[in-house]
Amino acid sequence: SPRLPVPASSNPLSILQEVFGYPAFRGRQAEIVEHVAGGGDALVLMPTGGGKSLCYQVPAIARHRRGCGVAVVVSPLIALMHDQVGALEEAGVHAAFLNSTLTLEEAQRVEREMMSGRLVLLYAAPERVTTPRFLAQLDSLHERGLLSLFAIDEAHCVSQWGHDFRAEYLGLSVLHERYPGVPRIALTATADEHTRADILSRLALEDAGVFISSFDRPNIRYHIVEKDNPRTQLLRFLRAEHAGDAGIVYCQSRKKVEETAAWLSDEGIPALPYHAGLDAGLRQQHQDRFLREEGLVMVATIAFGMGIDKPDVRFVAHLDLPKNIESYYQETGRAGRDGEPAQAWMTYGLADVVNQRRMIDDSPATEDFKRVQRAKLDALLALAEAHDCRRVRLLGYFGEDSEPCGNCDNCLNPPATWDATQAARKTLSCIYRFRPKSFGAGHLIDVLRGKRTDKVAQYGHETLSTFGIGADLSEQQWRSVLRQLVALGHVVAEGEFNTLSLADSARAVLRGEVSLQLRVPAETPLRARAGAGG
Ligand code: ADP
Ligand code: ZN
Repeated sequence: SPRLPVPASSNPLSILQEVFGYPAFRGRQAEIVEHVAGGGDALVLMPTGGGKSLCYQVPAIARHRRGCGVAVVVSPLIALMHDQVGALEEAGVHAAFLNSTLTLEEAQRVEREMMSGRLVLLYAAPERVTTPRFLAQLDSLHERGLLSLFAIDEAHCVSQWGHDFRAEYLGLSVLHERYPGVPRIALTATADEHTRADILSRLALEDAGVFISSFDRPNIRYHIVEKDNPRTQLLRFLRAEHAGDAGIVYCQSRKKVEETAAWLSDEGIPALPYHAGLDAGLRQQHQDRFLREEGLVMVATIAFGMGIDKPDVRFVAHLDLPKNIESYYQETGRAGRDGEPAQAWMTYGLADVVNQRRMIDDSPATEDFKRVQRAKLDALLALAEAHDCRRVRLLGYFGEDSEPCGNCDNCLNPPATWDATQAARKTLSCIYRFRPKSFGAGHLIDVLRGKRTDKVAQYGHETLSTFGIGADLSEQQWRSVLRQLVALGHVVAEGEFNTLSLADSARAVLRGEVSLQLRVPAETPLRARAGAGG
């Protein structure tokens, strides 16, 4: 007798095993999948590599098998759509994407598959989903009961407090207004409490289940070092700990990307530049080589990385300070996705603090927005200046409690600290005595240390009462004091030459009401360099 087809199961675990070939769900996946497959809304916060895709793919398949039709996945990343659709089709799941890379004919074919309800998952960019034409198609599916689910990937893009705001995401609230009965799942790898609240309200997910996974990436070792001679520091780090490894070096400007890549290559470390100013073909070529070849270092602006899934990135180095902790977490999170040991390394100095403060001050944003940005920067600075476990601080920022990790610079080498309260007061009073003029860090430190330079002679600063009162401390210690004072907002650096002046809050420090504990700078054989503290 003819064999009857076995009806495909809509049980999530069976789907995981049969379609994806995995024995079990990880972490909170099982709860999430159950909740969404059953028609609930969800906000999923899971670190990169945690397995977010299955959280909507399995429910999409389950609901499709129950006759609910098509799941629409909103994603801003064309490369990612492409990869996922390929992998799904290979696993026998009917999936497709609609984006600008398709010809008209291809797009029409995908639309026919979608409108028939045969498609299990449809990936589309947010700007397409909110067009009247696409919404009319969704209306038709919805009327026929064939709209199974909405998944909104990279959901932090809806918040301007996040690190990657995209205005197109704001339009996605229409999905709830228009199709209130269709379950929605929003997913992101980064969101502090502020951003999280924003996602919930802007996507009208107030009643959604919120599923937060641990954000810990235990295999990543965090290092933050004082910027001294950044290139030499980087080279030493790469040679000593990452010879032959693939990694990413982040710089803020295109120019610095180019220069650093060229310099590393000259030093015998294979490196490629990547930034938005490069010709698209060349950019793609560098990206492909980085993914395909072994042991390449990508020197890049933050334009590089979104949606790049290279499992064996062994280190992420920052030569410049990221904007905030979310960015730091996101960027460093590209290391060690295979679970093997990896390092996140950053150099950080006075100029970084000054630059980031200035970028906020000079931006055309509203005062409210700037206030939030400043608070976020302050949290990052506190992480950079911390003497205690970096991971505890990092996770704490995302609302997660943890114990000292044993796998960060501060845990491995608890830094000695010194009481810099007096030094801070000396610094502030020296800046005060310069009035009405103001000077940069280099000159200030020369005066404190009693160096008789031409500039000191020119301004008669050897007669100041603060001349030479800091001969007992090294230049590096003074830089560290000054950086703290700028980081804490007691000193402001302004103008083309970063000249220093006192903020109102300096008064409390001068009166001895604020005490300052600083780490003792690591001994370095590096020569003192010129300039304002790189
Ligand atoms: P994210 O989108 O959160 O960065 P992915 O969805 O790309 O993560 O998943 C990361 C990797 O983990 C993928 O290779 C995926 O196949 C794998 N993975 C996810 N869930 C499981 C699971 N339950 N069992 C085994 N592998 C899994
Ligand atoms: Zn630690």
